[in-house]
Amino acid sequence: MRSFDDLLADAVAMHRGCVCPGQVLGVRMAMLGCQLLGIDEPTQGKRLIVYVETDRCMADAIAAVTGCRLGKRTLKHVDYGKCACTFVDTLKERAIRILARDDARDHVWRYVPTELSKSDAQREAYKVMPDEELFVVQEVLVDIPDHDRPGRPVSRVMCSVCGEGINDRREVELNGLILCRACANGRYYQELKGEDPWATEESMHQRLT
Ligand SMILES: [Zn+2]
Ligand SMILES: [Zn+2]
Repeated sequence: MRSFDDLLADAVAMHRGCVCPGQVLGVRMAMLGCQLLGIDEPTQGKRLIVYVETDRCMADAIAAVTGCRLGKRTLKHVDYGKCACTFVDTLKERAIRILARDDARDHVWRYVPTELSKSDAQREAYKVMPDEELFVVQEVLVDIPDHDRPGRPVSRVMCSVCGEGINDRREVELNGLILCRACANGRYYQELKGEDPWATEESMHQRLT
């Protein structure tokens, strides 16, 4: 495994230069996860799959250290809003869930001088605090279905309402019809009638040339 400082530099680069406490926590968490699973070179191949339970700072550090990516299907975002991740070794079928302890904040001042700002103090303390003080670790079982694993799509169907294609068994069956989740459960977006994005882009293009 590469050194903490090297990995933190990668995480910070991915996080657009911000060295926040979340980056330090994320790097420590990812290193611990890999270490507990006995994976020295996590960025090689697709052996490691990580479920990230937050979409804040930490998530970038986890991606940087592990090499796991959404587009490789090795990084799964689970929208729990928690500072926790589960590291799954698909070779040995072992999984470790790691949660950042809320009470780690209470121990920060034992590790750093009091003249630091709160954020600087957290960041510096999280670099040196023992793993046990930072994290709760549990061995868990994660049953990853074929349609969530890396590799070619296992299925493709069309939604009978909107006509859009759906990969990897994300469809829903309702009254004998195949629907996409948007048509079955509601969308995160609203369609605007009478808007023509192409026209806007074209007129912008004309203005520029
Ligand atoms: Zn950040
Ligand atoms: Zn649909």
